[in-house]
Amino acid sequence: MQPLALIDPGSGRLVVVSALVIELVARYKQLKAGDPESGGILIGLRRGEHFEITAATMPQVDDKRTRFRFERVERGHAEALKKRWAVSMGAENYLGEWHTHPEDHPSPSSIDVSEWQRAVGLRRAATCQITSRPACSERFSTPV
Ligand SMILES: [Zn+2]
Repeated sequence: MQPLALIDPGSGRLVVVSALVIELVARYKQLKAGDPESGGILIGLRRGEHFEITAATMPQVDDKRTRFRFERVERGHAEALKKRWAVSMGAENYLGEWHTHPEDHPSPSSIDVSEWQRAVGLRRAATCQITSRPACSERFSTPV
């Protein structure tokens, strides 16, 4: 699988997503009727204004997951981030969130939008939202 390069039309910021991250997220497509939403955090490098997403966490046992909702808790995700940060000697850090939607053409829910704006205000996050079927399509945005 190829890395994915996305350009945020608002800011012109380039976001490169590694093939490993795309493969991880693709494993959680909601293909079956009972598959719950999945999500995690995006970890990577800032290259000037641009982002390179090198890792992502998978859903953890304490996350709350239903068909139409994913609520992430810190436990599991925070430890994974800490480990990547230490191994990279501080180069890799939190860049944002991802989660799936059971839609062919995903659109952020009102909850997504408000949490997104809060995250952007707090820490200039990138957000990647990924859908299930029939193909993986990505929607993301970064702060201007
Ligand atoms: Zn959502």
